[in-house]
Amino acid sequence: MADPQRIAFIGLGNMGLPMAANLTKAGHALTTFDLSAQACARAREQGLPVAASAQEAVNGAQVVISMLPASRHVEGLYLGEQGLLRALPAGTLVIDCSTIAPASAQKVAQAAAAGGLAMIDAPVSGGVAGAAAGTLTFIVGGEAAALDRARPLLQAMGKNIFHMGGAGAGQVAKLCNNMALGVIMAVTGEAIALGVKHGLDPKALSQMMAVSTSRSWATEVCNPWPGVLDNAPASRGYSGGFGSDLMLKDLGLAVEAAMGVGATIPLGELARNLYAMNKQAGRGGLDFSSVVKLVVED
Ligand code: NAD
Repeated sequence: MADPQRIAFIGLGNMGLPMAANLTKAGHALTTFDLSAQACARAREQGLPVAASAQEAVNGAQVVISMLPASRHVEGLYLGEQGLLRALPAGTLVIDCSTIAPASAQKVAQAAAAGGLAMIDAPVSGGVAGAAAGTLTFIVGGEAAALDRARPLLQAMGKNIFHMGGAGAGQVAKLCNNMALGVIMAVTGEAIALGVKHGLDPKALSQMMAVSTSRSWATEVCNPWPGVLDNAPASRGYSGGFGSDLMLKDLGLAVEAAMGVGATIPLGELARNLYAMNKQAGRGGLDFSSVVKLVVED
């Protein structure tokens, strides 16, 4: 087992809370914090110590881990008026697991390096179920030495770790993955809808596709058609899972990242619009596989 560490864990939402719980199970001493009183109450119910502020949570911590919604939250936490980077002693390891803009991750990492801190961006794949089961994939950017220090902690929360390059590279790779996922989910739903319109059984069609050349996570694990897979969000009214609005955010980041380097991503841009339409239709809070509803008559 890894040496027990004193860890401040900031952001106890759908992903952060189960990740923090797994670190505690692995024997680490956590102090946690979230801006939401409800999130803090859920953490206390699970026996996690909750501090009164992020500044209090990092007091005496060897490692700070954050799991926040978007770039502005991460920049606010680390670089804002009471930014943590100013308070942390040199040598502290900072791990940001949020999915944010690569440029934002680089900005925070540069400020961390200037203060003598080790920092990695370590966004995750695997969803809420992976966070609970401790089977997340970590997609890492930053110095190899910082990742080596973080590795035992990441292993307590996940099973795969990929080092993609320097600061921000984890975020770039995460956006590439999610852009492909967003497109694949939308087209899988469209394909099943076409088959159903021709009278095919969605389950039989999905079973065939799941072992044929259009096989993907969307056919095998998170099928967008209700009733095809019992455990998929589609079979429980698209509740739980990975929010359509989070996919919209990630596709927006992919578009931004593409513009930054002059890359052309026609399908990524189209997918961003599809998830924006899904939001307009009132499904932003549902699982992203609900995008299939755009092509299905109610
Ligand atoms: P969430 O909205 O459930 O949780 C985020 C938490 O951060 C909230 O409880 C919020 O109150 C808290 N917060 C925001 N700003 C804060 C601050 N300054 N200090 C303390 N707490 C603060 O989101 P989530 O589903 O846990 O996702 C977190 C990140 O992980 C996002 O970037 C998301 O894109 C990414 N992600 C999510 C999934 C998923 O399936 N939900 C999968 C992979 C990656």
